Amino acid sequence: MTLHSLSPDILGALEGAVGRDGLTADTAGMAKYLGDWAGDCRGSALAVLRPGSVADAQALMRLCSELGLGVIPQGGNTGLVSGAIDSKGAGLVVVSLERLNAIRRIDTENFTLQADAGCVLQTIKDATEAQDCLFPLALGAQGSCQIGGNAASNAGGVNVLRYGMARDLILGLEVVLADGELWEGLSGLRKNNSGYDLKQLFIGSEGTLGIITGVEVKLFPKPARVETAYLGLASFEAAIALFNQARQACSDLVSAFEIIGSECIELARLVYPAMTAPVSAPVQVLIELSSGPSIDLNGVLAGFLADAMEDGLVTDAVLATSVAQAKAFWAIREGLVEGQAKRGYHVRTDLSVRISDIPALIERARRFVANEHSGWISLAYGHAGDGNIHFNVLPPLDLGAGEARARGAEITAGLYDIAVNLGGSISAEHGIGRSRSREFWAGLSPTHRRIVTALKTALDPKGLMNPGCLLPSTETLP
Ligand SMILES: Cc1cc2nc3c(=O)[nH]c(=O)nc-3n(C[C@H](O)[C@H](O)[C@H](O)COP(=O)(O)OP(=O)(O)OC[C@H]3O[C@@H](n4cnc5c(N)ncnc54)[C@H](O)[C@@H]3O)c2cc1C
Repeated sequence: MTLHSLSPDILGALEGAVGRDGLTADTAGMAKYLGDWAGDCRGSALAVLRPGSVADAQALMRLCSELGLGVIPQGGNTGLVSGAIDSKGAGLVVVSLERLNAIRRIDTENFTLQADAGCVLQTIKDATEAQDCLFPLALGAQGSCQIGGNAASNAGGVNVLRYGMARDLILGLEVVLADGELWEGLSGLRKNNSGYDLKQLFIGSEGTLGIITGVEVKLFPKPARVETAYLGLASFEAAIALFNQARQACSDLVSAFEIIGSECIELARLVYPAMTAPVSAPVQVLIELSSGPSIDLNGVLAGFLADAMEDGLVTDAVLATSVAQAKAFWAIREGLVEGQAKRGYHVRTDLSVRISDIPALIERARRFVANEHSGWISLAYGHAGDGNIHFNVLPPLDLGAGEARARGAEITAGLYDIAVNLGGSISAEHGIGRSRSREFWAGLSPTHRRIVTALKTALDPKGLMNPGCLLPSTETLP
C-alpha cells in the first residue's frame, strides 16, 4: 500500500531519531531535494530526513524498519538516472547525507583519506591538494556530488583511464544497514584478501542495500606536471588510432582522453557565448598527460603529437601554454554538458563498448537517428579512453514536450539495442536508477537475476532501501 502522508505521531518519532534540524516535511522546504540536476524529473517524498551523525542514521533506519517505511538515500542529487528521486510517487522518505559532511582524517604517510559520506567531492579534492596529494575522481558535478553518492553510483569521470572508477579508489566503507545495524568496513589496507570483499557489494548498489555513512579512499601523489592539448582529427577512427598510439608512446602518463564531435561545440557556446574552439575539425580530442617532476612531459607530448601529425592522424593541434589555457580547453568539455541541460529535454545515454568499437557505435547510432528520427540532432562525445560514449540526441526545437519525451523513449531504446548488439553496456557510468531499471532487468540472465535477488533479500528483506531503483518494483520481480 502506498503511503500519501505521515501521521503526527510518526513525524514526531522521525524527529526523535534525527533531531528538529534533521526533519523537513513542508512542501517548500522539501522542494530542493525533489528535482534532478537536469530539470528532467520531479519526485515526491513524505519527508526529508537529514541525520547529523552515524548514530542518528542508525536510529532512523531502526525506526523505518519497524514502521515499514521505504527510504531513498540521497547525496548531492546530481545523478542522471532518477536514483535519488521518487519519480513514481511510491510514498518514501528521502534520507539526505548533507549534514554528515566532515573529512575525518587525511593520512599522507599511507596516502589515504577517510570522510563522512556527505562530504562534497570538491572539498575532498581541495583538502588533498593542500597536502600535495591527489584524489583523482573528477567529474563535472564535483562541486555538488558527495563521496557517498560517488561510492553508491560507482562514479567514473575523466581520469578513469589512468586511476579507475570509484570502485578502484575506495579502500573501505561504513554502512548503516536496512535494520539500523552498522557494518564497519572502513579500512586503510591496500591488500586484504580475507573472504568476500563486502565493500564492493555496496559500491554501485545505488542505495538499494544500505546507507553509506563513511568512505575511506586511496590518494596519489599530486602530479607536479600536467600537459594538455586540444586536437583536430578527421574521424572517430582516427581518434581511436590516436588513443592507441598515445598509450604506446606515453604509457600511463595519459590521464585523460576525451573525444568531442564538432556538433557539440555549439552547445558549449550556449554556456560560454564568447568561446572559440581551438581547432576546426569534425572530431576533436582533449588529451591530458600528468607526471612527477623529473619527466620532460612537455617534450613527451610535443614529440608524440609531432609524430601523429606527420602520420596524418592529427590535422591540427594546440598545446596549452598556461594553466588558464588548459582550463579553457576543459571548459569546452564541461560547457557542452551544461549547454544540453540549457537546451531542455534531450535523450541522454552513457553507452560503453570495446574501445575499438567506438567508431562503429557512433556511425550506427548516427545512421539510426538520421534515418528514423529526422530533425533530431545527434551528439557524440565522451571518455573515449574507457570506451564510454555519451550519444545524446536533441529534439527539434518546435516539438512539443510530450511528443519529444515519447519519441525520446523510442530513440533511447534504439540506441541501447545498438550498444548491446556490439557487446556493450547501456550504462558505462551513470548507473541504472529508476530510468533504466526495466531495460537493466530485462537484459539479465535468469542466473544473474537470481543472484541479485538473493543479495537484495538477504540485506533488505523488507524491501525498504530505495524501492523501484535498480531492481524494478517488487510486483514485477519474478
Ligand atoms: C554535469 C554532470 C556531470 C556528470 N559527470 C559524470 C561523470 O563524468 N561520470 C559519472 O560517473 N557520473 C557523472 N555524473 C553523474 C553524477 O554526478 C554521479 O553519478 C555522482 O556520483 C552522483 O553523486 P551524488 O552524491 O550526487 O549522488 P545522488 O545523485 O544523490 O545519488 C545517486 C545514487 O546513489 C544513491 N546514494 C547517494 N548517496 C548515498 C549514500 N550515502 N548511501 C547509499 N546510497 C546513496 C542514491 O540513492 C542514488 O541511487 C554527472 C552529473 C552531472 C550533473
